[in-house]
Amino acid sequence: MIEALDHVGIAVANIEDAKAMYRSLFGDITFHEEIVESQHVHVASFSINGVRIELTAAINEHSPIAQFIEKRGEGLHHIAFRSTGLENDLADVSQKGFTLINNIPVPGAHNMHVAFLHPKSTGKVLIELCAPKS
Ligand code: ZN
Repeated sequence: MIEALDHVGIAVANIEDAKAMYRSLFGDITFHEEIVESQHVHVASFSINGVRIELTAAINEHSPIAQFIEKRGEGLHHIAFRSTGLENDLADVSQKGFTLINNIPVPGAHNMHVAFLHPKSTGKVLIELCAPKS
């Protein structure tokens, strides 16, 4: 079951420039930073009243973020919903006709498993489902 909005992912070219911009917008926010090897990205995230914003930069050319920025430039990349059971929810949305990018969940930031639905089946919005690693 999909239970909540978990985070919003934003593709950025330079993580330090993006952090500086969000600090000037929101004040002295604290960032949690990590490298997510499965996606070849550096993630810097912060929360506004419980909703997490993830600034995501490519760490090499194999990253989907590098390809995204090359095609479309920086900007809103995906929205992520928290799932109570990723395998069941992926089977369910697949059965409903949505196209999965990840048939099997991959490791994401914040100790989560994540899987993406293809934007061609979701009105051009890249949707991620995520659940804490058990
Ligand atoms: Zn995400």
